[in-house]
Amino acid sequence: MMEKMMHVDGRWTRAHSAATRDIINPFDQSVIATVSEGNREDARDAINAARRAFDQGPWPKTTGPERGRQLLRLADLIERDAEELARLETLNTGKTLEESRWDMADITGIFRYYAGLADKDAGEVIAAPVPDATSMVVREPVGVCGQISPWNYPLLQAAWKLAPALAAGCTVVMKPSEITPLTSIKVTELCAEAGFPEGVVNLVLGPGATVGAELAENPAVDLISFTGGIETGKTIMRAAATNVKKVALELGGKNPNIIFDDADFDTALDYILNGVFFHAGQICSAGARVLLQDGIHDRMVEALAERMSKIRVGDGMTDGTQMGPLISAAHRDKVESYIRIARKEGARLLLGGKRPADPALANGFFVEPTLFTDCANDMRIVQEEVFGPVITIERFSTEDEALVRANSTVYGLSAGFWTRDPDRIRRMSSGLRFGTVWVNDFNVYFTQAPWGGYKQSGLGRELGRQGLEEYTEVKHIFQNHNARPINWFGV
Ligand code: NAD
Repeated sequence: MMEKMMHVDGRWTRAHSAATRDIINPFDQSVIATVSEGNREDARDAINAARRAFDQGPWPKTTGPERGRQLLRLADLIERDAEELARLETLNTGKTLEESRWDMADITGIFRYYAGLADKDAGEVIAAPVPDATSMVVREPVGVCGQISPWNYPLLQAAWKLAPALAAGCTVVMKPSEITPLTSIKVTELCAEAGFPEGVVNLVLGPGATVGAELAENPAVDLISFTGGIETGKTIMRAAATNVKKVALELGGKNPNIIFDDADFDTALDYILNGVFFHAGQICSAGARVLLQDGIHDRMVEALAERMSKIRVGDGMTDGTQMGPLISAAHRDKVESYIRIARKEGARLLLGGKRPADPALANGFFVEPTLFTDCANDMRIVQEEVFGPVITIERFSTEDEALVRANSTVYGLSAGFWTRDPDRIRRMSSGLRFGTVWVNDFNVYFTQAPWGGYKQSGLGRELGRQGLEEYTEVKHIFQNHNARPINWFGV
């Protein structure tokens, strides 16, 4: 199998150590590619290339319209190769091909959206408090950006970072998760084909503890953008203190989905399932924590169990599969350990909780769709991110109780609720302390709207105008048109 390499300063390069890593299909553990496995030295090369391209290269000085055109070229290439990219993503992550196809359509849209924004904001003139002066506020690219992404949405998460960084005029070192690098490698090829100057888009492959840590620590990096787990996020924040680099963090979530008695039952049921079982629950915004009001509780639990028992689990590449495997053996161990903890804590296991019996799935990292009822607010299964196909049900009586419980988490990524009462909609929308609140819907995000967390779910925002602002510094330029001595220190 031909080794897939890193991209540094416009060249495809092997790791200094010559190390490689096999990339595995989580459906059957087959090796689907071999890639270079970089270390700190490789990361430093990539950072230095990005630094030179920023300090000496043409990219940061290009006009917004030029950068926009370049991004549009890249979007066209991604669209051209969308099916190949979708297949790679499914082979590498196990998610269904249909989901991967949505991801690719989304990604094309992200590059087009930021292409459109690249030429919109020329800064503003503000009122100066003195006569004969001009005060301008302009935005400039922040510089060299390290971008570390996770394995659950490998290319989508990378695109949320890459598109605005390029639109702003930054140079980039991308580091995908070491277990899911394939679509990032492919898109780096497309960046080269689209004609980005050398050193603008660099790709370094390898483990977080070395390559990722170097990006977070290295003083030549101006901004570190990270999507991943909360503990890694804290480590990165500490490492970034070396040179007070800008830090953008998209961390985990434990996202309540609250169903009031007056909800549209069938739609809410459908969206509970959509909220959890896409990509086998490996979504930062998974609505795995379901709160049901007394009057709807029993009927909804019964309907959920019935629908969950029919979810078609299998190979993401096969038509008709609704849920694929978990990403790795280690991650399955983690999900299974949470299932054991929940049972010990006294949650009632109503469905699933084990690996599927089907021998055709025996080599994949599968866990059945799992339903726990009788869950209490303080259980670990309710408070901590499981990142698997597991729903916990909590019962509540009043709106106040639902709100207090939903907010009692260190996370603050997203929350949803279902009701027809307009006053309750207003109260709940403002009371929930989350970066995104869905009213009568769940798990919707799109390029135009900012995405990010309250509390420990993160720092800063991706997507939308805010996602571009992350990659800029604000500069105030004050010009005095009529400077005269003021003689403050005069004789
Ligand atoms: P992770 O934290 O283990 O790894 C994420 C990335 O960080 C990988 O590329 C990894 O190599 C790198 N990394 C690991 N240790 C590092 C270190 N010490 N220094 C620098 N980089 C390091 O997370 P994961 O398991 O890949 O992803 C799952 C997590 O991502 C979940 O918690 C999920 O909620 C979160 N996530 C959040 C969002 C969001 O938008 N908020 C989106 C997707 C995923």
